Amino acid sequence: MSEDLSLDDELVIHRPEDQLNAMYPLQHYGLNCIDCGAALVLKRGRFGIFYGCTQFRETGCEVTQNCHQNDAKPYGRPASAKTKAARKEVREWVERLLTEKHYPTLPSVYSWLREELGTQDKEFRLSYFDEATCKRVTAAVKHKLGELTRFDREVL
Ligand SMILES: [Zn+2]
Repeated sequence: MSEDLSLDDELVIHRPEDQLNAMYPLQHYGLNCIDCGAALVLKRGRFGIFYGCTQFRETGCEVTQNCHQNDAKPYGRPASAKTKAARKEVREWVERLLTEKHYPTLPSVYSWLREELGTQDKEFRLSYFDEATCKRVTAAVKHKLGELTRFDREVL
């Protein structure tokens, strides 16, 4: 889910990573790797800046944490490689719901999902989903798409 980059974002993104880490010390946010406990540092990827485990090169630990592009403030919950794969699957299924026009907007999808999963979680968004939530969401969407297919057959 990419967002348009503002000029402020560009300024942040184009700074060297070591400068960014000096500007935005992660200790400020109190975040450590959820898998190995090591520190996370700001890194730059294809989609902008994010926090990544300092053990990535040593142990291949792939834990990352999303952050806002304009001020490097973390959002969502950190994710292991497995969680990221599960979130990617959710994103693909949700996009199917949208492109097949079962729901007009992303907020309407989330609103349906909240009801479907019976959650009151205010932070019920993809960047907060753990693996278990991803599985439940994926199952709900698959079910929804299956139901609609059966319904369509009945109508025809
Ligand atoms: Zn780690």
